[in-house]
Amino acid sequence: MGITCCDVVIVGAGPYGLSAAAHLRAIKGLEVRVFGEPMSFWDRQMPVGMFLRSNWTATQIADPEDSLTLEAFQAANGIQFSTPVPLDRFVEYGLWYQRRALPDLDQRKIVRVETHPKGFRLSLEDGELVYSRRVIIAAGIGSFAHRPPEFQSLPRALASHTSEHRDFSKFVGNKVLVVGGGQSALESAALLHEVGTEVEVVSRALRINWLGGLASKTLHRRLGKFTRDILYAPTDVGPAGISQLVARPELLRRLPRSLQDRLRKRAVRPAGARWLVDRLQHTPVRLGHHVTSARVVGERLKVGLDDGTERTVDHLLLGTGYRVDVSKYEFLAPELAQSIDRFNGYPRLKPGLETSVPGLHILGAPAAWSFGPLMQFVSGARYASRALVRSIAGKDLALNGSNGR
Ligand SMILES: Cc1cc2nc3c(=O)[nH]c(=O)nc-3n(C[C@H](O)[C@H](O)[C@H](O)COP(=O)(O)OP(=O)(O)OC[C@H]3O[C@@H](n4cnc5c(N)ncnc54)[C@H](O)[C@@H]3O)c2cc1C
Repeated sequence: MGITCCDVVIVGAGPYGLSAAAHLRAIKGLEVRVFGEPMSFWDRQMPVGMFLRSNWTATQIADPEDSLTLEAFQAANGIQFSTPVPLDRFVEYGLWYQRRALPDLDQRKIVRVETHPKGFRLSLEDGELVYSRRVIIAAGIGSFAHRPPEFQSLPRALASHTSEHRDFSKFVGNKVLVVGGGQSALESAALLHEVGTEVEVVSRALRINWLGGLASKTLHRRLGKFTRDILYAPTDVGPAGISQLVARPELLRRLPRSLQDRLRKRAVRPAGARWLVDRLQHTPVRLGHHVTSARVVGERLKVGLDDGTERTVDHLLLGTGYRVDVSKYEFLAPELAQSIDRFNGYPRLKPGLETSVPGLHILGAPAAWSFGPLMQFVSGARYASRALVRSIAGKDLALNGSNGR
């Protein structure tokens, strides 16, 4: 079995891994290898028919020359689409980006990352070993799907997380109860209804926060471009004003911790895109309630709510989001995961999104505790990639030079 060495290994080929790879490959003399199936989370763990909630600018995957844009993708392929961007178009765009920026992507899975005197030792699914001085983890949120404890004992065939589905047509003619009040729960409910499922939503929230509503649209129109640009950053994360702060992770991370936490909560509170309102008009949404019991009866579930009502359903769909806990990345050796300084499952990151383990970086949603909610979205990849370049270029090239390379 082969053994190879390199300067940097990137684990993951979603928007963050692809963008980081495109930026780091532009550094002369740095040998970068990238592993993972391109755009696999978007392709397999999001429902067919979904639309992206982020706006046009925030849906671009950053590259160092700003040449791999959605516009360039449309022109190269002779296709046209606009916002909201359909999921299948975004996946095609990501794959096109990968073929252009990273034709030698290695799609094998990394099954183990552990420390080693040379830096890190990575084991591939077929047993090949790779040694690298640095490892950049861009493995996304797939490992963090949150299944609340009260649903853990239910069989997966009857109670599943939204991330376990790509195609809702298997529920045609069924009765499904969706739990949650955020975009994922609401959009899943709309898609289920549209394929011919009898669907009901239950959410603890007392009301749904609709994004891009009448008030927000009127405000946007009245403001004019100049004021709008002052209040909202192109990264499209957070409400007026907060959007600009969130777009500047360097500034955000200097604020007192309690303020950072408040801003993060406000910027990414559960909300639904306005274009879902009409699509949900025939779907009962029970707000301010929660499931108190669920038991298997034959091939179905009997579900009770806190208002004393009961219903028998074919399936319970958990739109209960994701909870970051980097120790849940199965490929991280337990000793390595334990040695990362963490808070509530999030790594405490230094400049260059580097963990307390020198040479180990983590991008995407796990970086949100240190660099703010921008890291949970595609538009944060520009900041993350540039921060990596700033941190790695200086240190590693100096080292390469001293090694006479
Ligand atoms: C339903 C839903 C809708 C969303 N809509 C939006 C939106 O509209 N706009 C937006 O900005 N964000 C949206 N998000 C957030 C989105 O998940 C992130 O913005 C984005 O996926 C982050 O990219 P990433 O590269 O960190 O992770 P991912 O896209 O999840 O990529 C992870 C990569 O890691 C690879 N990988 C994992 N483990 C291994 C391993 N062991 N070895 C090798 N490779 C591995 C995977 O194959 C994949 O290539 C949405 C999320 C959900 C759940």
